[in-house]
Amino acid sequence: MKIDYIKRNCPICGSKSSKEEIYSKSRAEKTEFSLLKEIWNGFFKEKIIFTYSRCNKCKTLYCPTFFSNKHLEELYGQMPANMDQVPLSALKKTQKGYFDFLKKHSDLSGNFLEVGPDIGLFTENCVKEGDYQNYWLLEPNISVKNELKSVVSGKESSIIHEMFDFSKIPDNSISTVVIIHVMDHLIDPLEYLESMKKKLKKDAKILIVTHDEKSILRKIFKIKWPPFCLQHPQLFNLKTTENFLNRLNYEIIAQDKTKNYFKISFLLKHLLWGFGLKINSVPNFFGITVGLKLGNIITVAKYNG
Ligand SMILES: [Zn+2]
Repeated sequence: MKIDYIKRNCPICGSKSSKEEIYSKSRAEKTEFSLLKEIWNGFFKEKIIFTYSRCNKCKTLYCPTFFSNKHLEELYGQMPANMDQVPLSALKKTQKGYFDFLKKHSDLSGNFLEVGPDIGLFTENCVKEGDYQNYWLLEPNISVKNELKSVVSGKESSIIHEMFDFSKIPDNSISTVVIIHVMDHLIDPLEYLESMKKKLKKDAKILIVTHDEKSILRKIFKIKWPPFCLQHPQLFNLKTTENFLNRLNYEIIAQDKTKNYFKISFLLKHLLWGFGLKINSVPNFFGITVGLKLGNIITVAKYNG
């Protein structure tokens, strides 16, 4: 049995000192990679995660043992298409909510950079209502290229299929950075934003959306809270996000809990699943969509150069 996961210090402050907080009955640290791959893809019933510990110094919640970059390349490279049945109209409403938050705190001009835009549900709001000159979109998933291209058609834009490659972006040129549901996934989030800094103008705005590990849902579901999973080497809350950004010389402008929009039937199904009832058919409730503050947080901060 070959197990070669990596050991990590706190990804934000580097401290080695932490206290265990959330773990599964079988721990991923002691589970073979081949089985974790099945779990990653959702083909296994038992929940197995890497243990989450809280940094004693900066209070970030993170996994002191996690997949190596090599593992992650393999895992993300073979992932089946997202099968979650949240309808497009609901996803669009959620992203519009994020956009309205940015709009409140930014003049929507200059050059725009987004990491992981997927099919461009956030980006399309910027194209419609913003006044950006140039769009830089870092999207590793090649299969969304055409959809993304059509979102920015008529605008100056570059789609780069590599999340870590900022080399084509001119230094000191970006006025807005948008990073939605990415920071939870990165092994080294601090290093990632550090390496992006030289591309930013002084006073650039950053918008970050992540899960909230201090949310009520997390308290209700405990280990069953979905963001406790193999995809997230760390999880943030409002305070640890602020601390993280302060370290990079960002100043917080505004933070909030965000709404996610769902069809009622989808929520009911997942609620029943949460209680262990595997029911696939529930009434449609006329396809009504509701917005719930379901454990995500949004932050806008200003880069002080
Ligand atoms: Zn720390």
